[in-house]
Amino acid sequence: MNIVCYGLQWGDEGKGKVTTYLSREFDYVVRYSGGSNAGHTVNYGEFKLVHHLVPSFDIRGNTKAYIANGVVVDLDVLIKEIEEIKKIGFDVYDRINISSLTHIVLPVHKMLDEKLEIAKGEKAVGTTKRGIGPAYADKVHRIGLRLVDLFDKETALEKLKFISKMYKNLYGIEWDDYEILFENFEKLSKLIVPPLEMKEEFKNVNVLFEGTQGVLLDIDMGSYPYVTGSYCNTTGVESGLGFPIKIDKRIGVFKAYVTRVGEGPFPTELFGEEAEKIRIAGREFGATTGRPRRCGWLDLPILRYAIETSGCDEMIMTKADILSGLEKVKVGIRYLSNGRKFEIPNDISMIDKVTVEYIEFNGWKNLEDDNFAKFVDFIERETGLKIAYISTGEKIDDIRKV
Ligand code: GDP
Repeated sequence: MNIVCYGLQWGDEGKGKVTTYLSREFDYVVRYSGGSNAGHTVNYGEFKLVHHLVPSFDIRGNTKAYIANGVVVDLDVLIKEIEEIKKIGFDVYDRINISSLTHIVLPVHKMLDEKLEIAKGEKAVGTTKRGIGPAYADKVHRIGLRLVDLFDKETALEKLKFISKMYKNLYGIEWDDYEILFENFEKLSKLIVPPLEMKEEFKNVNVLFEGTQGVLLDIDMGSYPYVTGSYCNTTGVESGLGFPIKIDKRIGVFKAYVTRVGEGPFPTELFGEEAEKIRIAGREFGATTGRPRRCGWLDLPILRYAIETSGCDEMIMTKADILSGLEKVKVGIRYLSNGRKFEIPNDISMIDKVTVEYIEFNGWKNLEDDNFAKFVDFIERETGLKIAYISTGEKIDDIRKV
């Protein structure tokens, strides 16, 4: 049984926690896109982990992890993360594999990320400046460095010098300190495998694919240009792996409200005190950057769009407990644009020009409250999908099957 667990909004839906919970039933958790710009916080109770590159598998169990070639890897970040987990008392080194075709995020990519954001001025996307976009761009420019290149130091040095030359000439960025890269590679080299070896391995095991960011940040189907640099939609699984695989179920995770980091349209956004209340209660500050997240009401048109775009089979709702105690909870049910009503945007680029029609619910004291049950029923009816699990709190086991 192969499942994809991914975000139906603009990321930060609580996928890391949910994936970790589900991972116990799987042999592998696989990251298929993104890089260290991801920041999944997982609260184990006795300790907390923030996963940037290590897939969200339960480190206390036997599940293994694979970082596929759709991911761009910052070796330094990956090593530090593995070391952090070791300090807590779990050696996951032997449980992780990385595709040999994975592209490496280099210091020049981070420098360029910063420069690009500054040059864009008011049009800045609000990236995490982790070098992810430039690393993907170099992959497409065909000047990227892959893990497989580092097995032959002489060839790797030649490639690195060429990259340095390109960056100096094109962007005025200077970098020639390559040694740390080789040192990091030494530490990770035993984990590197060719993708076809994993294809063979995946024939007889259960795999859980872990989405990063969310469908609305997908490079094609998201709210371009305010998106991430990769195919974080479910469609990215096969391209990220590099070979076809049968997917049995696509489980989309959504928050009972909406948050967004960085710039870009956000039809149900709240401001002032109302937004601040949710931000503080939900601790809506970026796990990678610490930036305050923009907060707003649940937006059904955009949720329906994400469901359609990703082929969602069932959903998991998170963070409804954060809304507990509010007198009223609103949900955006349709958009109005040029005198027309839209249950679902026909094109996501329309969402910066819409007004939103809301429905108001009586708030709930806790998640046992009838008012909450009415909210859940309404979302299931409006989306035509079952909410299979409801996450009820921060920790891994704070979740109930519906
Ligand atoms: P991800 O990137 O999608 O994994 O999400 P983040 O890591 O940015 O944010 C998830 C945060 O919310 C983590 O600190 C989780 O422990 C927490 N969380 C997840 N689900 C719930 C929930 O249902 N209720 C509460 N209160 N916190 C949750």
